[in-house]
Amino acid sequence: DHLISQIAAGEVVERPASVIKELLENALDAGATDIRIKLIEGGKALIDIHDNGSGIKADELSLAVTRHATSKIRSLDELEHVESMGFRGEALASIASVAQMRLTSRTDADAHATSTHNHHGDWQNAPAAGDVGTRIEVAHLYHNTPARRKFLKTDATEFSHCLEYITRAALANPHCGFSVMHNDKLVAHYPISDWQQRIADVLGKNLPEHAIWVNHAVGDLSIVGMICPPDVARSRADTQYAYINQRFVRDKVVSHGIRTAYADVLHHLRFPSYVLFIDLPPQGVDVNVHPAKTEVRFRDSGAIHQFIANSLKKSLAQTAS
Ligand code: ADP
Ligand code: MG
Repeated sequence: DHLISQIAAGEVVERPASVIKELLENALDAGATDIRIKLIEGGKALIDIHDNGSGIKADELSLAVTRHATSKIRSLDELEHVESMGFRGEALASIASVAQMRLTSRTDADAHATSTHNHHGDWQNAPAAGDVGTRIEVAHLYHNTPARRKFLKTDATEFSHCLEYITRAALANPHCGFSVMHNDKLVAHYPISDWQQRIADVLGKNLPEHAIWVNHAVGDLSIVGMICPPDVARSRADTQYAYINQRFVRDKVVSHGIRTAYADVLHHLRFPSYVLFIDLPPQGVDVNVHPAKTEVRFRDSGAIHQFIANSLKKSLAQTAS
């Protein structure tokens, strides 16, 4: 099973950033309102994520790191939802098969935290210090598979991939505070806020002046967020964040709808920067194309395209006039 885990890990754990993505999803699933991330050497030497979520019971720690063990499916109905959010009980096991992992957790029913780690092959539980919540330390990614390790890029490149996933999660979860340290330096700190303030915190202090805020709903479709000229949102060339039902997506229907509105109203040829959250009934979208990927498939892509373009045209026209 260890070999199978390692093969599965190749799918799930491409680089430090993929570990970050999975661990952040777990922390947010557990209801965290505070997530502290520490990275060393772009995450290659250490990824340390500490959340204040519900925690894992001591006797379920070893289950959490077992393949196909998930606490998140209680019915067949839920299966569809869980598949949409990520791997089903594979992430921790996969990560643990290609790194040293320590898992420390405590629920509010426990008198103290319990820690487990895979340093000597087996998982061993031991009492530990810690508040309610979960801390996962992932050290020396791919230490046991040098062929994979050599595909990792420089610290700076791996760190920027990590930060990208943190940014995606932070934008969509303003109810949760985030802090990020890299090599013992604080590089980002986002306090709990609302979605507007979170966008401003993440993309830069001068953003709100130039941003065009969007807030539209038609029937059960809604879109909120902001759109702005491409040069405003810091120096980033690709500040383009679109979410469907809280999930980050890269989708042609969505991006084309956004660009169409921008080009029509403002006659700009360059692509705008944007952070947009689009919500629609779950049956209107299939997100199971691949759980690790950012693709979606709409039941009625024409209607979604039209909704996005029309909503943004209205917001842009109001601001332009
Ligand atoms: P999945 O998220 O698909 O269930 P994972 O391998 O990511 O699979 O996690 C396995 C299980 O470990 C989860 O179902 C959950 O019960 C538990 N778990 C993992 N991370 C956390 C966390 N940060 N807080 C609470 N529980 C967690
Ligand atoms: Mg998970």
